[in-house]
Amino acid sequence: MLRVIGRHLKQGFQLKSVERSENRVRIDLEFQSPDGRDRLHEVKSARELTDVHKIQAALYWDGDGNHEVVLSNGSTDIVLPREYLEKVHREAEATTAFLRDFPDEATIAFRPNPAVCRYCGNDRCPFLQRNDQFQSSPVGG
Ligand code: SF4
Repeated sequence: MLRVIGRHLKQGFQLKSVERSENRVRIDLEFQSPDGRDRLHEVKSARELTDVHKIQAALYWDGDGNHEVVLSNGSTDIVLPREYLEKVHREAEATTAFLRDFPDEATIAFRPNPAVCRYCGNDRCPFLQRNDQFQSSPVGG
């Protein structure tokens, strides 16, 4: 977190908030760029930034075209393209609608993913009862 702050202050960004809660998310860092745009950062301690991290960051976006959404770690800042943010939001809305409208089907629609299953709290998942390979220790972030 401190490295990301230092990097941005050197580039002329102003720090606006740290770990601000808004709606359903907690925004790790918020900066204002020298030209006045807001930049929202999801900050990870992991050395390697993954697709799951990108999706987490993309969920910061509220459809405001003036906001940049950035995934950061100690050495890197990835500005997520607008098209990617729109795609993640379309998929999130479809998933939310599926969970809301078809709860019975959702309880048996298991989609194992090693990057996600290790954090999942669904102890009734039949996949995990048959396989413990995704129960390894969590990665950073
Ligand atoms: S543990 Fe089961 S319910 Fe959870 S994400 Fe993995 S497959 Fe889905």
